[in-house]
Amino acid sequence: MRDRTVDVFETGAVCLGIKTVCDGYARGYPFRIQTHIHDDHMRDFDRSKGLQDLFMSPETRALLIAERNADLEYRDNLISVSQGSGRELDDGSRLSLLPSGHMLGSCQVALVLPDGIRCGYSGDFAWPLDDVMQVDELVVDSTYGSPRSIRRYTQGEAEASLVETVCERLRHGSVHIKAHRGTVERVLHVLEGNVSVPILASANLIREVVVYQEHGFAVGALQALDSPAGRSALKERSYVRLYSKGDGFGNELIEGTTVTCSAFMVDTNHPLLKISERAYRVALSNHADFEGTLAYVEATGAKTIVTDNTKNHGYELAIAINSRLPGVHAVPSTNSIVLP
Ligand SMILES: [Zn+2]
Ligand SMILES: [Zn+2]
Repeated sequence: MRDRTVDVFETGAVCLGIKTVCDGYARGYPFRIQTHIHDDHMRDFDRSKGLQDLFMSPETRALLIAERNADLEYRDNLISVSQGSGRELDDGSRLSLLPSGHMLGSCQVALVLPDGIRCGYSGDFAWPLDDVMQVDELVVDSTYGSPRSIRRYTQGEAEASLVETVCERLRHGSVHIKAHRGTVERVLHVLEGNVSVPILASANLIREVVVYQEHGFAVGALQALDSPAGRSALKERSYVRLYSKGDGFGNELIEGTTVTCSAFMVDTNHPLLKISERAYRVALSNHADFEGTLAYVEATGAKTIVTDNTKNHGYELAIAINSRLPGVHAVPSTNSIVLP
């Protein structure tokens, strides 16, 4: 028996009470909540599919169906819960999902347990957020939980430096931009109207962008690589190519410039890192930084915090919360082993 109400297991699955896990599978837990579709949150998904009831936002469900187009659409254990509305689970707990600003469909998970304890998992989140869940016990994502992860520029400045770099480099050939899912749609949105060349993408990425469009995200005009417009742009080396999951960013680029969009490894004072004349990194990120993470924790009202220590920064974040937020007690997750 666990002595914590909320924790993170060795597999990365986040448990809320004794029946529900988020973004992972654990034996004996009948419910799985899926916060969003990024790979590091999709652990054991196929196993969960066969053994648990899965709850997620309609947008996340649509993205999964677009990506996997398998049997998902027809499964009755893949259950949509609209963000902002609630749903009672079979054990009497009450689930609600709120947007987390990280990508289409991403959510914060709030669960009121049958005994009335309000617990929650932040999922990956951006800051600021309009609507922050109110809970007693919280598992918080620690991606930027280190005090070294304070960004001294705004996301608007990061976007401006992306546009500037892309426009400048287009004068020398094609530009190849790699970003995470969710961020890549933001890149498209930011570039639209600012570049005069076609923006090319794989069929997979185009399918994903269509889901964004269908859910009211105003992005447009991607050209398929093998369309007539795509082929002629490739020949003339006058295009922007977007890469995301599964697109295989070639190891050697014969021509053109690469731009990677990620806040990781970029100087915290400037959003742009020039690696060479033909390689750049822009700190476009859909993750709260260190200060944003602390502000989020405070805004939830939670007094008991478990920092997700699956990858890193769980310790540093717990120390920071304990010293900066009076009356709040934080510990890193145990990442203890559960029966497979
Ligand atoms: Zn994510
Ligand atoms: Zn993540």
